[in-house]
Amino acid sequence: MELLDYMKASEQLRKYNVHSIRSSYVSSADDAVKFAKGKPIVLKLISNKALHKSKSGLVKLNLNNDSQIRSAFSDLSKKGTKLRPYRIIAQELAKSGIEIIIGGNTDVQFGKMVLLGLGGIYVETFKDVALRICPITKFDAEDMIDQLKSGKIITNDGKNREMLVKLLLNVSKFISENKITELDLNPVIIRDGSYDVVDIRVLK
Ligand code: ADP
Ligand code: MG
Repeated sequence: MELLDYMKASEQLRKYNVHSIRSSYVSSADDAVKFAKGKPIVLKLISNKALHKSKSGLVKLNLNNDSQIRSAFSDLSKKGTKLRPYRIIAQELAKSGIEIIIGGNTDVQFGKMVLLGLGGIYVETFKDVALRICPITKFDAEDMIDQLKSGKIITNDGKNREMLVKLLLNVSKFISENKITELDLNPVIIRDGSYDVVDIRVLK
């Protein structure tokens, strides 16, 4: 198993019309400031030695000005000395919305599967997830949403539902047509019929 580079995973997903939020590796605080163009950003440290970034203090949200960006970059660089090799990635800050998880894996019995769940405690505590064998149909996607106890929270508006059905179909196609051991889009932040994928993990 091999962890696919974040930016490569993002490019491959784009070919399937799955768009992740604008992101770029940055190698200096100046780079990060340039990336921001005056808008709020997020900086994250990516390393195989720290899979849960936020638990390790490796996600710096809401960086609103140059000095916040510089101090976040410097803090991440310090933490990075113990996590080599690592990279720092800059991302646009997504507008707030509902956080969902779209996942995939290869099951020994069923083969390739796609998973949908509401983010946070709903997945971990309530195990409220829907799973289907890939590739799924539009009907399967609708059914996955309806099956969730949290489905109504996700599709509080009809636009979200339509968007999510398309997104699930595209992710299912990506899983079907590529060598994927594990996929995690966690979270996908959805609002008003649009979405931002802000964290990607693909194991080949
Ligand atoms: P990890 O899952 O490794 O802890 P994430 O990249 O998922 O790291 O970030 C943790 C949380 O930070 C996300 O669940 C989300 O709530 C928030 N977050 C991450 N990236 C962004 C972003 N670009 N815009 C807005 N919120 C973000
Ligand atoms: Mg995550």
